[in-house]
Amino acid sequence: MSSVVLNDVSKTYADGTSAVKELNLEISDGEFLVLVGPSGCGKTTALRMIAGLEDISGGTISIGSRVVNDIPSRDRDVAMVFQSYALYPHLNVFDNIAFGLVLRKLSKAEITKRVTEVAKVLQLENHLKRKPRNLSGGQRQRVAMGRAIVRSPQVFLMDEPLSNLDAKLRVQMRAEIARIQRDLGVTTVYVTHDQTEAMTLGDRVVVMKRGLLQQAGGPQELYDRP
Ligand code: ADP
Ligand code: ADP
Repeated sequence: MSSVVLNDVSKTYADGTSAVKELNLEISDGEFLVLVGPSGCGKTTALRMIAGLEDISGGTISIGSRVVNDIPSRDRDVAMVFQSYALYPHLNVFDNIAFGLVLRKLSKAEITKRVTEVAKVLQLENHLKRKPRNLSGGQRQRVAMGRAIVRSPQVFLMDEPLSNLDAKLRVQMRAEIARIQRDLGVTTVYVTHDQTEAMTLGDRVVVMKRGLLQQAGGPQELYDRP
């Protein structure tokens, strides 16, 4: 795990859209930060820049002691989970989670050890042989998370991971995500447009509006503000 620091980070897209404006953020080691704000305020852009999926127009992003501005996604130790996650339908839960480790040519024993550990944290240990079609929506989303965290990234990024789930599952998964993050202790940035989700999840909540940081604080602090 590592701290993430954004220093005057800006993004202007090729068509001139100014999506993020001189954003300053410091996310400490092991912290769970929630980025919240209305659609179009620049949350996804900020997250994609941290992930290295989007070029930075100005400023610097550091992970740990390294400035990562020009380091592509595959060379950053960052994992990301999206709203629409695609699991491999023909692979069971174990193989879905193991996929990235197999690509990295880890030994069978190491893969089994890591997948088993992650499956336990995600409470999927009794479903390892099932195919995605035989899982609930919440279980599938946990498999997607497992695939991301199994390689022990320094930083874990989530972009509206619950927005495709129904309301009841969403509430249930919220609690689970908070628990999983605590168990792993990995530095996490979680993007949502849902204020309730933001207030219940984060150690700290950052509110964005039109590309700018509007306010930041503990959930209660922000909630109490008029
Ligand atoms: P959010 O995640 O908060 O909904 P985004 O980061 O997706 O916000 O978008 C911020 C702004 O940038 C919006 O005005 C959006 O239309 C614009 N935008 C996003 N992606 C692109 C792109 N590839 N090209 C041009 N404009 C974009
Ligand atoms: P989100 O709300 O999660 O940001 P959007 O529906 O706004 O998702 O955007 C979906 C995709 O479309 C993203 O990849 C984003 O970069 C791109 N996009 C958003 N706005 C624009 C835009 N104005 N021009 C080009 N691409 C855009």
